[in-house]
Amino acid sequence: MAEEKIEGIVLKETAMGEKDKRLVVLAKDIGKITVSAKGAKSAKSKLSAPAQLFSYSSFVVYKNRNFYNAYQGDIIEAFYAIRQDIEKFAYASFICELTEKAIPDEMESNDVLRITLITFAVLAQTNFEPRLAAIIFEIKLLDILGLISGGENCSDCGNKIENGFFNARMGGVICQNCAAKKPGSYPLLEGARMAIDYVIKNDGKNIFGFRLSAEVLEQLEKFITIYVREHLCGDIKSLKFLKNFRVQNECL
Ligand SMILES: [Zn+2]
Repeated sequence: MAEEKIEGIVLKETAMGEKDKRLVVLAKDIGKITVSAKGAKSAKSKLSAPAQLFSYSSFVVYKNRNFYNAYQGDIIEAFYAIRQDIEKFAYASFICELTEKAIPDEMESNDVLRITLITFAVLAQTNFEPRLAAIIFEIKLLDILGLISGGENCSDCGNKIENGFFNARMGGVICQNCAAKKPGSYPLLEGARMAIDYVIKNDGKNIFGFRLSAEVLEQLEKFITIYVREHLCGDIKSLKFLKNFRVQNECL
């Protein structure tokens, strides 16, 4: 068993008995790992704060086969503001669940880690709409994983797009000609096409450099949700919560 220091973001926490937690951590240079945090449920434990969901923390761990046992930890960034706002909390939970399901164990995923940290910073430190922040995160995640192409050229024939269509099975944005031949194609609002293209062509904080009208946001969310379901993972529990959350809000 070798001692090592790791740092990463806590994507999931599960209670193990009365005192302990099992964490899923997206760790820098390592990827997604499972970390056992003994005593982390106790408020007195040094692992209590760093082992919380959404925290970006450093841990001193012993590695035993594929299992990491943490016995010391420090918070690098807690993103406390996310925990204080139910909407931010809901979208950050969704981002964690999606990331956890989308990437395989122990495959270096520093680009995904970086974009998760940037999205959490946007959620915690700004008034950027959490719903749009989550959609932008999803598009960038699909882009990093090589699962979606930009919105300027058709992802089927490669021709420049004039009237964009969306097809979840054909790599996202396609042209009118291809759409006529492919079942499951839907007309895409110009703003939604430009948003997909913008997120794919930009990087870092810049990807949050736009806003959308309610109509475009609604369509983009619908299509990206279908796309994520088709290419990344089936059911995401937090989506149900988000849906209920929005229905409640719209009724207020
Ligand atoms: Zn085409």
